[in-house]
Amino acid sequence: PVNRSPEMQEERLKLPILSEEQVIMEAVAEHPIVIICGETGSGKTTQVPQFLYEAGYSSDNSVIGVTEPRRVAAVAMSQRVAKEMNLSPRVVSYQIRYEGNVTEETRIKFMTDGVLLKEIQKDFLLLKYKVVIIDEAHERSVYTDILIGLLSRIVCLREKRHLPLKLLIMSATLRVEDFTQNQRLFTQPPPVIKVESRQFPVTVHFNKRTPLEDYSGECFRKVCKIHRMLPAGGILVFLTGQAEVHALCRRLRRAFPLTRHRPPEKDDQRDSVEETRRFKKSRARAKKAQAMTLPQISLDSYSVLPAGEGDEDREAEMDDEEEEALGSDLDLDLGDHGADGGEQPDASLPLHVLPLYSLLAPEKQAQVFQPPPEGTRLCVVATNVAETSLTIPGIKYVVDCGKVKKRHYDRVTGVSSFRVTWVSQASADQRAGRAGRTEPGHCYRLYSSAVFGDFEKYPPPEITRRPVEDLILQMKALNIEKVINFPFPTPPSVEALIAAEELLIALGALQAPPKTERVKQLQRSRLSCPITELGRTMATFPVAPRYAKMLALSRQHGCLPYTITIVAAMTVRELFEELDRPAASDEELARLKGKRARVAQMKRIWAGQGASLKLGDLMVLLGAVGACEYAGCSPQFCEANGLRYKAMMEIRRLRGQLTTAANTMCPEAGLFVDPKMQPPNEDQVTYLRQIVTAGLGDHLARKVQSEDLVDDKWKNAYKTPLLDDPVFIHPSSVLFKELPEFVVYQEIVETTKMYMKGVSTVDMQ
Ligand code: ADP
Ligand code: MG
Repeated sequence: PVNRSPEMQEERLKLPILSEEQVIMEAVAEHPIVIICGETGSGKTTQVPQFLYEAGYSSDNSVIGVTEPRRVAAVAMSQRVAKEMNLSPRVVSYQIRYEGNVTEETRIKFMTDGVLLKEIQKDFLLLKYKVVIIDEAHERSVYTDILIGLLSRIVCLREKRHLPLKLLIMSATLRVEDFTQNQRLFTQPPPVIKVESRQFPVTVHFNKRTPLEDYSGECFRKVCKIHRMLPAGGILVFLTGQAEVHALCRRLRRAFPLTRHRPPEKDDQRDSVEETRRFKKSRARAKKAQAMTLPQISLDSYSVLPAGEGDEDREAEMDDEEEEALGSDLDLDLGDHGADGGEQPDASLPLHVLPLYSLLAPEKQAQVFQPPPEGTRLCVVATNVAETSLTIPGIKYVVDCGKVKKRHYDRVTGVSSFRVTWVSQASADQRAGRAGRTEPGHCYRLYSSAVFGDFEKYPPPEITRRPVEDLILQMKALNIEKVINFPFPTPPSVEALIAAEELLIALGALQAPPKTERVKQLQRSRLSCPITELGRTMATFPVAPRYAKMLALSRQHGCLPYTITIVAAMTVRELFEELDRPAASDEELARLKGKRARVAQMKRIWAGQGASLKLGDLMVLLGAVGACEYAGCSPQFCEANGLRYKAMMEIRRLRGQLTTAANTMCPEAGLFVDPKMQPPNEDQVTYLRQIVTAGLGDHLARKVQSEDLVDDKWKNAYKTPLLDDPVFIHPSSVLFKELPEFVVYQEIVETTKMYMKGVSTVDMQ
């Protein structure tokens, strides 16, 4: 019996999935595997676990497991469900990689998909669960795909044991044929339940012209127009990355400040008469807009740029297409009101601007669910985290730049780069759908319908886009030897499988096949090398195989605490704040410059001299974490030294987790996370460098010798075995000026050039 508050109950009843409760629960009772499709916001994530709870699927101390591809969602959803059910977080809990509030009493457990994969390694049959929900399956994250493959087998095994396990797969799109039409995965296609969405119509407006570069500026202009002209309702903007999100937030906050009666700034006084006139005008216009119900407004037919400046833009925008334009008689013909001051602060129209992206601190993320302050309009500027996993209440307008930033891996070399590309049609439609949750809405696409027509239909599953060595190691540890026979919903490419297997053989995690050439080929093509003892040890560490190897090698010389710290910092990534971002003002520019100098100086101090400097950027990581912990890991220390507080907290947690795993590996070590860790001595640094070299051995680069310098582009460049092109030490590295002959690197990232990051020196005899 669940004791919900009447308000909560009323809220729930509005969700479309509530009317499907019986259908869903009957299907679950009758079938081992059920697929549920329903638009984002229909109530899948928050309601289905509650249905199962009420139907007794958590009786006998068993747990209802829900996996999410994103940490943000696992935390937010557990909190939401606990609140809806009036239950404590001890009962409705979450577990993400190194953090959670799961207790003995936990009955509904939200977790990231990687967490469940780890649990399968400990208990293949997942006996503590009577039901597992794989949520957001349409995202096709690597771990989601693997889990579905594994669970298809676990469900059969549990059936044989007469301890049935139910599997629910939930998707926000109807594209589930990779699951239903895949005989190897499910011999019997599971039933698919479609939840009718109570989605309100969203009118989609395409731009006539697609801006080539400045889609952020275009977003800004569109938000200004919406805010000045259109009736109440939240605005959700999709951009591609954190820096862009912040830049737009700043710009919008300056344009529409929240404080109504703040003292005028110097700039504002310049022509206060003109200002006042403009304020009055825009207020009157806002009133006019407010008075109309759901007008079909062409936002594209006027500009908010100051007169003159915007003319060109306006011309181009005037003939923007309006797809599905209804009731054009309601169009506001405001084409000649373009003389508005674009970036002049307009305090008469306060806008409550909030950023949302995955690296944002959780309490800041949670703000988007709060109603905006009285008299203000909510505007959330987000990356694609807001696309399907989080539903922000009250959004009526969506501004979609049409782009997404994704890490792209070269299939052969593993070199990664962040690329901004067009989204898929499915993603663009998801984004548009965010505008129609509470009432009819509008989506402004900052690209033309022709460009949209060229988008891919769906994004390709992640497993086909990235290296898979970590997965292969995990699967081998589960005694799945012939990975190629695994029932992947979509298999990775054979090249990726071979590359993974070769790396794992080189690291000693898999047994090398016998040397005879023919047998070798045969073995390789079947991809069935068994795991070694070392490989099993490595698989117990929740980090990439290269780093796991370092940990497995660090038993001696008291090096483990140091390796754990280095590996934790390399795994969390982005320890340092992004200081190369464009500054919004001279003031900020000065601040950024000062901070860059400070961070560079601290890095030199942390790297030290002589032997320790040879460990390079990894020594910096060690020094930064050591110093930060010594100082109590305060937000002030992080701020002063350009460290990301959130990253430091994650490193602390991951150190804890790795320390526990290391103690299991060698209990005699009796390790603990020491906040006052002494720096390593010279011998230890030497061992650490050997350990690092062993782990990153395939990431070796050699400085191009002056006699080989054929071309200027090879100046200060390094050569790696796999790449034909030169690679360089990243300017943020402490070895940038040292230019040692041999180095190993954590990764190569391609921006303007190919840069090695996380660089450390190697001595070659
Ligand atoms: P789905 O999983 O189908 O996308 P959800 O179960 O996540 O849908 O969301 C259902 C509804 O619950 C949404 O309309 C959303 O606005 C609301 N909701 C979810 N989380 C919160 C929250 N933390 N605060 C307020 N409302 C929320
Ligand atoms: Mg959901």
